[in-house]
Amino acid sequence: MNRKISLKKFVLWWLGAFILFLLIVFNTIMYNMVKKSFYERVKEDLCLVTKKVKNTLILRDDKIITIPPKIDYPINPVMIKVFNKKHHLVAKSIEFMNIKLYEFLQKESKFFIMNNERYGHIAIYLSKIETPIEGIILIATPIARIDAKLEDVLIKMLILSPILLLLLLLGANWMVDTILNPVRKVTLTANKISVGDLENSIPLPTKYDEIYELVKSFNKMVERLKDGVLTIERFNSDISHELKTPLTVLKGELEIALRKDRNIDYYKHTLNVSLNEVNYLIDLVEEMLFFAKMEIERDKIEEIFVDELLLQVMSKLSKQAKQQNVFLHLKRLDSINLYTNSVLLKAVFINIINNAIKYTPQNKNIYISLIKKDKKVLFIVKDEGIGISQDEINKITERFYRSEKSRNRAVKGFGLGLSIVERALRILNGNIAFNSKEGLGTEVIIELESIKI
Ligand code: ADP
Repeated sequence: MNRKISLKKFVLWWLGAFILFLLIVFNTIMYNMVKKSFYERVKEDLCLVTKKVKNTLILRDDKIITIPPKIDYPINPVMIKVFNKKHHLVAKSIEFMNIKLYEFLQKESKFFIMNNERYGHIAIYLSKIETPIEGIILIATPIARIDAKLEDVLIKMLILSPILLLLLLLGANWMVDTILNPVRKVTLTANKISVGDLENSIPLPTKYDEIYELVKSFNKMVERLKDGVLTIERFNSDISHELKTPLTVLKGELEIALRKDRNIDYYKHTLNVSLNEVNYLIDLVEEMLFFAKMEIERDKIEEIFVDELLLQVMSKLSKQAKQQNVFLHLKRLDSINLYTNSVLLKAVFINIINNAIKYTPQNKNIYISLIKKDKKVLFIVKDEGIGISQDEINKITERFYRSEKSRNRAVKGFGLGLSIVERALRILNGNIAFNSKEGLGTEVIIELESIKI
């Protein structure tokens, strides 16, 4: 079995690693930027000092250049060295650092940071001079103060980063918990649900989000399961009720035939009766099994050309209409395509038209229409048949319900057709309505919606 990996831990680990990585990158960039800006300041100050020093250089006895001791430098202490154009040292300040000019002459930059044994980190600035002699002026200053500031920045970053990381992880932990709590509830409810107990549903969250959608879909799934289980339960009880009678008849016929020796005609009669019962049973079982099939079909949704499907059904049933001498008319046929289940829709068409043919006397008419109205589809079958009484209209979609008249007329049927239609329409999100007058005819109106995938 796979080891359970907590989603929360997984998210927090990865988020923590990601934030840590970001913090390291961010801090490194920030530290370098601060360092650069500090050094830039030092460079500017040294440049300023250079300018001031340049203006105060004095030429004495044609050779010696002295640097006046009192200059208002922005950086202290500084070391100043002046070289002639042959790079010989011609003047220097009191502060002295062991810096060799030739180390810098080859380089392009004018500003350098380097290590000094005595002062630690120092900044050096080089500049050409024209007066009072031609040469180079070198100015240097220790930058221990700046290093201390940088260290301070670094320490603050090192202290703040883990705190920031911790706060972000706490926030992420709270968020993951908020997201996962409804999911945990779904798991808990799902664990409680069994075929015997489908009464649990999860309360919908107040916010309309993905979790809301998940809970809604889950509840819908439970509803569908409940529906399916109910169908199976009813199927089981129907089987025991409805199959028992024909099987008892069959058993009785065969037992009587076998009780003593009979003549050949008697056996023929018994076999015929038995065959009829067996055929009846086969048809009945087939219709009953269709209920189970409907449950399997419910999720098979595809684009259907409804007008084409209706024409197929009509051509299939026209033979039966001809035999009964009733006339099928196609009053209107709009071209319609729907996302729906073809098996269920076909069952609806067959059963409604079949009933119209069965319950319409000879030489009468049946009018069929398929109409597109806004986003709905209307399928209307109007017959000039025997009609249905008002008392019966509410019962005809019940399983095995057959009106007195249809039983008396010995019309073939089990009373399952309309319950199949009703079930199919429930799955397809459709509605059925009956307008009927006894002796005048029945109009069945079916309204369908396009099912979104
Ligand atoms: P079945 O036709 O096998 O009896 P159904 O479920 O299809 O079963 O119909 C249930 C009952 O509804 C029928 O027995 C019949 O009395 C009545 N019924 C259905 N359709 C019509 C119709 N078009 N005209 C008159 N009665 C109808």
